[in-house]
Amino acid sequence: MSDPIKINEKCVYCGACVKACPFGAITQTERKTVPVIDLMKCTLCGACVASCKFEAIWMKEKSAATIDLSSFKDVWVFAEQHDGVIQSITFELLGEGRKLADSLGMKLCAVLLGSNVQKQTDELIARGADKVYLVDRPALEHFQDESYANVLIDLVKRHKPNVFLCGASTIGRSLVSRVAVRVNAGLTADCTGLAIDPKTLNLLQTRPAFGGNIMATIETPNARPQMATVRHKVMKEAEVNPARKGEVSMETIAEVLLQSKARRLKFVPEVETTMNIAEANIIVSGGRGLQTPENFALLRELADVIGAGVGASRAAVDSNWIPYSHQVGQTGKTVCPKIYIAVGISGQIQHLAGMQSSDIIVAINKDADAPIFKVATYGIVGDLFEILPLLTQQFRKVLGK
Ligand SMILES: Cc1cc2nc3c(=O)[nH]c(=O)nc-3n(C[C@H](O)[C@H](O)[C@H](O)COP(=O)(O)OP(=O)(O)OC[C@H]3O[C@@H](n4cnc5c(N)ncnc54)[C@H](O)[C@@H]3O)c2cc1C
Repeated sequence: MSDPIKINEKCVYCGACVKACPFGAITQTERKTVPVIDLMKCTLCGACVASCKFEAIWMKEKSAATIDLSSFKDVWVFAEQHDGVIQSITFELLGEGRKLADSLGMKLCAVLLGSNVQKQTDELIARGADKVYLVDRPALEHFQDESYANVLIDLVKRHKPNVFLCGASTIGRSLVSRVAVRVNAGLTADCTGLAIDPKTLNLLQTRPAFGGNIMATIETPNARPQMATVRHKVMKEAEVNPARKGEVSMETIAEVLLQSKARRLKFVPEVETTMNIAEANIIVSGGRGLQTPENFALLRELADVIGAGVGASRAAVDSNWIPYSHQVGQTGKTVCPKIYIAVGISGQIQHLAGMQSSDIIVAINKDADAPIFKVATYGIVGDLFEILPLLTQQFRKVLGK
């Protein structure tokens, strides 16, 4: 196979490409020699091509030259199920997928993998799927990266979807990155917005970048399918219409693709007394200001009264006051509840990255200059140990609990 990138005779040995390469993949031993590209280090990012004023660097188009984009049809949604229960992120993806499919004039399809899950296809059709690709095999009863990825890769290669969406859940993130690499597709992780460019018909994939400071819109014009994982609770669930009709395609899969080197021995659920924050409409979150793990009882009490989940800053999690599954932020969960109450949390950028798209933010902090107040809808400046019990008491009264 010929090299995907080459320096040709137009080179004037200026060395601009050496400086431009962010990966240190281009070296020039002497001033008047043609630089050498190390293909093991080169990622074909194109920075050197752009830096060369003399058009001396030729790079093969990554995939546009090799694939026929027009042969990729339809918008696919991975239907995530746990023990046969379709997860709500799937309904959110179907809601958004419907809009994309309509803009493209294509079908909206769900892809369901599992064991004994045929009846769940009705639910997917009722939520907007025109077609469901079903792979119903005992080996797929529980999620396994390897076998699930193998099956999806096979389906993608055979049916060629144009867009493929998946929840940015633990399963989704792990699964589709494998699929994207193997089918040579573009993948944008953790999107909060999706749209179709009316001119190019490319998928516009928007996600927060640099800790939430900017919103980046990413396109993958030369690769298909255009793959994206989408954050939970950002998009609206598709409405249920039991009268909708759709097609179910039972897919035949080679036995070898269902094999996996890993085996599930058992599932140990985390003992959880409060609701999962990714699902909660209200979250009461505590930070270092709570001072001890015992003081989280104050938050739980308020959470119980108002039906909220309990979140935490990384400082509280790192101090072992509360398990990691409660952490909100850049390295924790991204949440988007209707109400987020931040208690004794300063509001560092990494925390804000996980909660600032909440509808209403209430901050309780004794420091009036704490950065959390910049994003708060309502702020209470004062001692949380006085304020929390008062709030709980008042809500009890108002809600009659
Ligand atoms: C790569 C990276 C990733 C990170 N990821 C995350 C993440 O996912 N999530 C996250 O949260 N952080 C994350 N962090 C850490 C982040 O930078 C902050 O250190 C952390 O969020 C601080 O937590 P905190 O607000 O609870 O603590 P602090 O910043 O110490 O704030 C405590 C606050 O409590 C207030 N307070 C104290 N006592 C009281 C009282 N009695 N009444 C009322 N208020 C009181 C103080 O005024 C203060 O504002 C990350 C950092 C890095 C470098």
